[in-house]
Amino acid sequence: MKKYIAITIWLLLLSVSGCPNQSYSTLAAGSLPRYDLSIRIVPDAHRLEATGTMRLPATKSSRDSIELSLSELMTDFRVEVVGPPSAAGSAITEKVTVRPYSRPGWGTATWRVHLPHPINAGTPTVLRFSYTGGGAHTSFIFSLESEVCFGAGIGTAWYPEIEDGPVQSDGRLRGLRGTGSLNFFVPPGYVLESQGLSLSKPVELSRGEFRFNIGDPVFFAFAAGRYKVQPGHGRIPSALYLLKPRVNAESYLTGSEKVLDALVREFGPYPHPEFAIVEVPSEQADRAGFSGASLEGFILSNTDFLDKDFNTAFFGHEISHQWWGNLIRSKTVQGRWMMSEGMAQFGSLRAVEIIEGTAAAERYRRTGYPDYISDQNALGYFTLIAKGTDHRLSDLAQDGDLSRRLSNSKGFIVWDMLSREVGRRQFSHTLQSFLREHANQRVEWNGFLRAIENGAGRNLRWFYEQWFERTGAPDFQFSWKQEGRRLRVGITQTSPHYQATLEIEAGNKGGQRLVRNVRLGAAQTSFSFPINFRVESVVLDPHYLVLRWTPEYRAVANAARSFSLELNQ
Ligand SMILES: [Zn+2]
Repeated sequence: MKKYIAITIWLLLLSVSGCPNQSYSTLAAGSLPRYDLSIRIVPDAHRLEATGTMRLPATKSSRDSIELSLSELMTDFRVEVVGPPSAAGSAITEKVTVRPYSRPGWGTATWRVHLPHPINAGTPTVLRFSYTGGGAHTSFIFSLESEVCFGAGIGTAWYPEIEDGPVQSDGRLRGLRGTGSLNFFVPPGYVLESQGLSLSKPVELSRGEFRFNIGDPVFFAFAAGRYKVQPGHGRIPSALYLLKPRVNAESYLTGSEKVLDALVREFGPYPHPEFAIVEVPSEQADRAGFSGASLEGFILSNTDFLDKDFNTAFFGHEISHQWWGNLIRSKTVQGRWMMSEGMAQFGSLRAVEIIEGTAAAERYRRTGYPDYISDQNALGYFTLIAKGTDHRLSDLAQDGDLSRRLSNSKGFIVWDMLSREVGRRQFSHTLQSFLREHANQRVEWNGFLRAIENGAGRNLRWFYEQWFERTGAPDFQFSWKQEGRRLRVGITQTSPHYQATLEIEAGNKGGQRLVRNVRLGAAQTSFSFPINFRVESVVLDPHYLVLRWTPEYRAVANAARSFSLELNQ
C-alpha cells in the first residue's frame, strides 16, 4: 500500500463571517480584539509590511503596559496609543522574551508595550502599530516565497496576538482569535485567499488589492500565489487555487462538495461562507511543518496530495475539523483528542460510508482506506496494543503522536459504535445541537458525554466506562450447532466483560441467509433461533461493527510483539 504521509495538522479555525444563513452563535465581540490590518506582501523580497490598528477589550484593572505576541520573524514593531484620547501618544516597545518552538525561527516573541499614560479599568484601548517581517526563513504554516506566500495565525503569530491563558501542552501559547478587516496588497498577477467575506471589486483585484471583512472570531490566515482559480458548483461556494492546470481538478471540486454535503448532514451547517483548497509547493509546505493544514474556511494542501486522486477519507477528516477542534474546542486536556482528532476521523468515516457505501466503510474500519494514513483503523490500533502503547481514550494527554494515533484508530471506531448504539439520526441530531449551543466555546468532555446521554434519553455510563475508561478491546469466542430447526450459538468472553450488540449471520452455499442481532454482556451467553435451512457457516459480526480482536489481528499483533522483543534483545 502506498504510504500517505500526513503530518496532518488540524489547525482549525473558524469563521462564520456574516453568512446570512449562519446558525452559530458568536462570542461577545467585546471580549476579543478587533483589527483593521493593511498588509503588503512582497514575495520576491520574502517580506511583508503591515500597518493597522487593534482595539483591545477593556480590562478589570488599570494598566500601564500591554503584552502582545508576535513571531520572532517580525521586526521594527512600533506602537502608539490612539484611544482613549486621554492616553494617546507613542509607546515604547520592548521585546521581553522569545519562546522557542520546535525549529529555529519558529519562536514567538512577547513584546511589552509601555503605554505613555496609564489606561483606566473598564476602558478599551486602541493601538496603532506597524512592523515588517518574514525573510527567507519559514515558520510554522508561515512562508513568504516568490511562488507562494502563506500565513496562519494559529501556527505563527504573523500579526500581534493577545496571549490567551497558560502555555499549551505542546509548549505553545495560543493567541486570542480576532475579528476585523484585512486589506492585502500583492503584486499584479498574484491571487490571494483569506477568510470572511471578500469585498474587493474587480478593478481592485486586478491591481492586487484583496479586501476581506471578518465578522466572526478567527485566527487570520492567507495564501497568495500565481493561482488559477477554479470555482466549484456546490451549494457551499467553493474553489480550487491551483499552481498548474490539473486533469483531476474537477474531481477535487465534486469530491469536496460531496464530502461537505455529507458532513453538513452529520454535523449541521458549514460554519464558513466559503470553502477552498489551496495548493502549496510540497517542499515549501514541508519546511513550514505540514503537508495538509485545515484552516478556517480553507485547506492548504501540498502539490503531492493534489497530484493524487481525490481522497474521500483524507478530505473527510480535514473538512470535519471545521466543526471539531475548530467551531468547538476542548476546555481541558481531558477529551481534547477525542473531540478533535477522534471526531474528525469519525466524520471521515461517515463521509466514506455516505458517499461510497457500507463496504468501503467496513474496509476503512478493518484495515484502512486506500492511500490514506495506514495506521488509522482497527489494525493500526491492535498493532499499538502489541507495542505496549495502549492508553484509555478519556484522558489522552501526554505524547501527542500516540494520542493522535489512538484517537484516529480506536477512537473513531468507538464514536461510530456509540452512534449506532444511540441511533444514527439521534446521534447526529445531538451533535448538531451541541455544536449550535457551544459554537466558539471551549467545552468539557463530561459535558459532551452528558449531552449525548441526554439526547439518547438513557444511561450510557456502561458504554463510556468500557470504551473510554478501559484500555484494550473485547475478544469474543463463539461456537454453534444446529439441532433440527434450531440454531444454537454460544458466545464467551474473558474479563473485563463488554456489553455489545453483535450481528450473527448463518448461511449456506445455496445462498440462504439468516441474520440476527444478539445482545450480550456476561462471560457466557447462549442464544437459539428457529431456522429453516441447513446451516453450513455462522459468522459473528460479519461487517466488523464492533471493535474486537479477530484471529487475523492476533496474528499481526503477535508478529509485531515478537519483532519488538527481538529489537530489545
Ligand atoms: Zn486531524
